[in-house]
Amino acid sequence: MSKAIIIGAGGVGNVVCHKCAQSPDIFSEIILASRTLEKCQSIAQTVKEKTGVVIKTYKIDAEDVAAVTQLLKKEKPELLINVALPYQDLSLMDACLNAGVHYLDTANYEPPHEAKFEYKWQWAYQERFKEAGLTALLGSGFDPGVTNVFCAYAQKYLFDSIETIDILDANAGDHGYPFATNFNPEINIREITQKGRYWENGKWVEAEPMSIHQKYTFPVVGEQDAYLLYHEELESLIKNITGLKRIRFWMTFSEKYLTHLKVLENVGMTSIEPIEIKGEKIQPIEFLKSVLPDPASLGGRTQGKTCIGCDITGIKNGQKKRIFIYNVCDHQSCYQEVLSQAISYTTGVPARLGGEMILKNHWKKPGVWNMEQMDPDPFMEGLKAYGLPWEVIDLPLE
Ligand code: NDP
Repeated sequence: MSKAIIIGAGGVGNVVCHKCAQSPDIFSEIILASRTLEKCQSIAQTVKEKTGVVIKTYKIDAEDVAAVTQLLKKEKPELLINVALPYQDLSLMDACLNAGVHYLDTANYEPPHEAKFEYKWQWAYQERFKEAGLTALLGSGFDPGVTNVFCAYAQKYLFDSIETIDILDANAGDHGYPFATNFNPEINIREITQKGRYWENGKWVEAEPMSIHQKYTFPVVGEQDAYLLYHEELESLIKNITGLKRIRFWMTFSEKYLTHLKVLENVGMTSIEPIEIKGEKIQPIEFLKSVLPDPASLGGRTQGKTCIGCDITGIKNGQKKRIFIYNVCDHQSCYQEVLSQAISYTTGVPARLGGEMILKNHWKKPGVWNMEQMDPDPFMEGLKAYGLPWEVIDLPLE
């Protein structure tokens, strides 16, 4: 029986609230705090209608450490689940340290004016969390998150040594808009327009954005166009998966999506460099976000499925082998359950599950941790129990 506070009333925050409310034996009290109170109230209302659970709501600026500390000291939750934006990670970690609260997030810290995905800022909190006897679990979404745990599971059970990992993220869903992003547009576009990067034989290899492409045949959703991106879990997995020779991350995009993105980029709309309009400084990408459909509104209109998994090669019992470990998630089933599309669902369920891992002491360990550093077993069981069943298939060696 534990109290949890969820920060961020967006698409993912909605799913976390619903999924926590479905398990009152674990999350006995839930608080939702975010920048816009009305969004918190609207989520609390639907959760009450669906589950009967009452969620307390607050307006908060997650970048105001003193205000968050005060709220945490007043409400005394055991755990803070951060599903606001990556810009708020450090201020929320500081507030957790001030108030003695465990911390969990789904995306690594990014400085607001520089598209840079690195764990160094959060890893620097290791000693402070250790000394305070508090757990900080980083990247408990799907990718990062479940994909890290898939790798840990493969390392524990499926291979004696892992050689290569390709993380593949396919969204074969369609929301019917010419262009929209499935999660926060600013974060999504910053991720895609940066240079591609993968790790091979002990060093990083860099490529122009979206310049490396392959056709990959996924289970259930079939052949898709996958593009190599840099993704944050690569940075921790190269440290924690032993013997690794290469790791890459791929995401699928339709031609229509890429054409729109190219045009937006060419006209400067994806830039994070502030420009001045009528005396106000704004980032063009911030403006773009405000004219694009809100990802939280895509749920009802998105049809189709996602398939996210890890294609892993290595050695088992002296034999080379290759597997794909994955989950398939259906957009409409998610909507029926929690009024959200599958992208928010596949992030929100692991956030809730990571919370359970801490609250039930499976993963309560003072310090700052990435997911693959924990025992994968209870988490892998939880995925099946809470809506993200997974499969392992053998693949032919290339
Ligand atoms: P949204 O933009 O839908 O939601 C973010 C929420 O955070 C909004 O409600 C927003 O408030 C709130 N917020 C923003 N700034 C502040 C602030 N300073 N103080 C308080 N609240 C604030 O994003 P998503 O729900 O799609 O994504 C949430 C997180 O999940 C992101 O960090 C994203 O990177 C991560 N993610 C992780 C994935 C994974 O697999 N690991 C996959 C997808 C997303 P307002 O409503 O007022 O704007």
